[in-house]
Amino acid sequence: MSQTIQDPEIPDLGLLASYKPYFTGKTGSLAIMAAASFIAGALEAVLLVMIANIALTVGSSTTSQGIAADVGPLSSLHLSVGTSFLVALGLGFARMAFQLVAAEISGRITAELISEIRGGTFRDYASASWAEQSRRKESDVQDLLVRHVSRATGGIGAISRGISTACLVVALLVSAVVVDPISAGLLVVSGAVLFFGIRPLTQRAKTLSQAQLVAGRNYAAMSLEALAISQEIRSFGVNEPVIASLEKATEDEVRPTYRSLVLREVVTSAYQLSTILLLLGGLFAVYTFVDRPLASLGAIVIILVRTLNQTGQLQAYYHTLVETAPYLNRLTGERAQLRAQIPRSGNRVIEAPSRLRFDHVSYAYDGAKPAVADLSFDVNRGEAIGIVGPSGSGKSTLIQLLLRLRQPDSGQYLLDDVDASDVDDDSWFEQIAFVPQESRLTQHTIAENIAFFRSGVTREDIVSAAKRAHIHDEILAMPEGYDTVLGSRGGALSGGQRQRISIARALLREPSILVLDEPTSALDMRSESLVHETFTELRGQVTIFVIAHRLSTLNTCDRIMVLTDGELQGFGTREDLQRDSEFFRDALRLSAIKTTTDAAD
Ligand code: ADP
Repeated sequence: MSQTIQDPEIPDLGLLASYKPYFTGKTGSLAIMAAASFIAGALEAVLLVMIANIALTVGSSTTSQGIAADVGPLSSLHLSVGTSFLVALGLGFARMAFQLVAAEISGRITAELISEIRGGTFRDYASASWAEQSRRKESDVQDLLVRHVSRATGGIGAISRGISTACLVVALLVSAVVVDPISAGLLVVSGAVLFFGIRPLTQRAKTLSQAQLVAGRNYAAMSLEALAISQEIRSFGVNEPVIASLEKATEDEVRPTYRSLVLREVVTSAYQLSTILLLLGGLFAVYTFVDRPLASLGAIVIILVRTLNQTGQLQAYYHTLVETAPYLNRLTGERAQLRAQIPRSGNRVIEAPSRLRFDHVSYAYDGAKPAVADLSFDVNRGEAIGIVGPSGSGKSTLIQLLLRLRQPDSGQYLLDDVDASDVDDDSWFEQIAFVPQESRLTQHTIAENIAFFRSGVTREDIVSAAKRAHIHDEILAMPEGYDTVLGSRGGALSGGQRQRISIARALLREPSILVLDEPTSALDMRSESLVHETFTELRGQVTIFVIAHRLSTLNTCDRIMVLTDGELQGFGTREDLQRDSEFFRDALRLSAIKTTTDAAD
């Protein structure tokens, strides 16, 4: 049973509309390429006519100086055999020169487009707002960056080669008309019939390609998910069912792939057979009904064979374009969506703000009920603020707003009376830093992990940040110290060490605001107390917001925010809240705040 999977996210554009956006600004180069191909084709046609004449002269052992220049415009030239050889040789070289020009331009355009599509797709993703980025599944982005980009670049290559071949074909046909209008006309008509006859098959290729696209996305999602939960899969002993479901997903992709490959061959061989039949039929008709001069017939046959060969190529390029279009359309659509969501940088440069204020801030995800509603609070420079609340109460949304990763739907976020969205990006990133719940380290050295792609960072800066994060001594004890290369997922480092490297990364630029999401899994006691030491040292200088998952962290905070259902239910010292706020007591219970490590303080 064949089932066509329709993906509503793939816009179904015409071929021209699919490819056109990629070639704007390249029309000049394309025109030169087309002209060079056309001239190469014309030269080739004249060359083929001369070869036919030379062959005829040599074959008929004519000894006269003039050759049987029986064909079209050449008949008036009366070239000798020797001259004809020389002219043919010259035409061969000239044709090659024009072909090389066309090939160079085609190669250059393709290379430029490949680098634009590869680099541009990642740039579009990386430049989009966090709200837009996080809307997408990781596997979808990966699929876009790898499979779609690679299919799209294949199609782009076919376009410029296709244009070049088409011009060659047109030139050959024009020459064929000059040599023998009747045969050439016949060829054009039958070529058109052939093209439209094969079209339904080519359209089927498009449907199969769409099915491949959807099944491939599905496979990417499933395989990435399986990799992320491989530990659980092993420990639950469910390897076989997971493998089976991936095999099923593979099959769903392989089926249309197989059909598409067979279809391509069917189309190619049907086309080739039809051209042979066409040629034989034409020759038979000429033989039976028309009295043609021999040289003219020879020349036209050579030109036609060559033309049909090239139109075969053209058909293959067209097939590739049709197959690629769904990938290109999705890529174009996704990139346009990403580009529409590039956050603008403000132009207000700020120094370390002495006060940070939320003024009736609300935010809702995609029309859902507000994740945070009407939040108003003031925080002074150097305060350490703990955030607690049950799961789903809006803690992560609040820190994403604090980090300016999301913009309030209503209300204002102010730094010393400057709206956060008006702050210049560079100035913003100087002031604020973030430590996520799960510290993600890259496969670089420890020093590079702390510097984290930022330029102008010295070794002293890195060491100083590591000291402030209380990880310096442990780094020095490693085999290569700061130059120790971390393996995948942080190598052999403990969770506590990873978190402190992450804190060093955040402290590198001496931010005035630090936002942390405390790890939920237990850290070793030593790490926990070292992190608290860092907090204590930063107190008074750096404004800290921390989503707290343990009581000991709350003890290091000046004030605590209690969130439930996106609303601020309490904001005060721990003692005040414990005394006055039932919400706080409940929130502590519901947040599963860890009290077990209190003894470490
Ligand atoms: P917490 O961090 O306290 O667990 P969150 O800020 O993650 O709470 O979530 C607050 C509310 O917003 C929840 O109802 C959650 O389902 C919803 N939410 C969080 N992230 C998203 C998202 N990316 N898309 C849609 N809804 C979300």
